[in-house]
Amino acid sequence: MRMPALVAIILLCASAAHAASNSFAVRDVRVFDGDKTIPNANVVVKGGRIVAVGSGVAIPSGLRIIDGHGKTLLPGLIDSHVHVFPGAQADALRFGVTTELDMFDISRNFKAWRAQRRSLRRTPEADTWAAGLGVTVKGGAPLENAPPGLHIPTLDSAGDARKFVDARVAEGSDYIKLFIENLSEYRTKKTLPTLSPQEVCAVIAAAHADHRMAIVHTQAEWAAREAIKCGANALAHMIPDRMVGASFIALAKRHHIFIETTDDVWAGVSGLDLAQKLARDPRVAPYLSAAQKSTLLATDQKLAPWFFPNVLANTRALHAAGIPILAGTDSPNPATAHGVALHEELQILVRSGFTPEEALHAATALPDAIFHLGRRGHVAVGYRADLLLVDGNPTQNISDTLSIDRIWMNGYAVNRTPPKT
Ligand SMILES: [Zn+2]
Repeated sequence: MRMPALVAIILLCASAAHAASNSFAVRDVRVFDGDKTIPNANVVVKGGRIVAVGSGVAIPSGLRIIDGHGKTLLPGLIDSHVHVFPGAQADALRFGVTTELDMFDISRNFKAWRAQRRSLRRTPEADTWAAGLGVTVKGGAPLENAPPGLHIPTLDSAGDARKFVDARVAEGSDYIKLFIENLSEYRTKKTLPTLSPQEVCAVIAAAHADHRMAIVHTQAEWAAREAIKCGANALAHMIPDRMVGASFIALAKRHHIFIETTDDVWAGVSGLDLAQKLARDPRVAPYLSAAQKSTLLATDQKLAPWFFPNVLANTRALHAAGIPILAGTDSPNPATAHGVALHEELQILVRSGFTPEEALHAATALPDAIFHLGRRGHVAVGYRADLLLVDGNPTQNISDTLSIDRIWMNGYAVNRTPPKT
């Protein structure tokens, strides 16, 4: 039907004004607030922050209203283990991941990330917390395949730990990441040099002296034990090499550690095709960038089919024991991709015995509580309006997180069109 020109112009201007505003309301929507489900509520956002949530909440006149019938409103998702690179945070945001916690990157773009995450400006990118450079030895993981010309500082001895960690903190590291990795868990001939137990303990002590958490890459139970005994705050991966027993669980509990899962990576290393299926999902495919497609469809050469059954069992056992478990993807490793992989991670958590609400909590309120992310991860008064509206009910059927209706970051609607190249 043809519209009179003046009416068309007025409508266009009105929709542009709505898109430019970070104030709106969602009416009659199911809300997962980061901890629990509210069956029916109105949610009011003004100037990028949530100002009212509840079933009887009045919606101020003049505010744009979105009908939430049949939909669920969630906090923007938080991926607790990624590696950022140019374009990564935009890829994340197109899938409702509004905050990413980097666990080693060489760009060290801390100043810009800090400024963005403090502001309520419109942005096309997820907010970022970052380890920056991790602590490892010359030729050790994850630098074994680094290009020869690339100089990345490494630790030479336990005596240098304090100086080395101080330099990371001076650069802007939000937490300290270290690597204990000799590849033993892959049962291959190839081995890597790694930090000694004395160096691990010295780095963790230095991190704590600088008021930073120490998060340790371990993929073998022996390495995880070493990290925990040295006082690590967290393991960066669910342990894949074996099923852990009662003594490991008791050690983890005694030391109050938390764990970032990255179970999707282990699915890929085990030769499962979860990522390929995800890439073909009609709710996913139209929004993928070239980078996301290429990493989702990449396969890992370090094939270890015994990893995934161990990971499912360990995730289940450690969760049942009350160890805090955060959803992380290790994107952009093979069989992952920024943003979209977190939805797969939530599905794996449910497969590991989490209720859908527990899985969603592991990607919203729980990382906010542990990392103190500045009023994120909740649908509650005073929190940032980083929000995800989906069709259906992911608190019953976790896969519904992929049925994205719209995303807001700082209260601004997010454009989900992927980049052309
Ligand atoms: Zn990683």
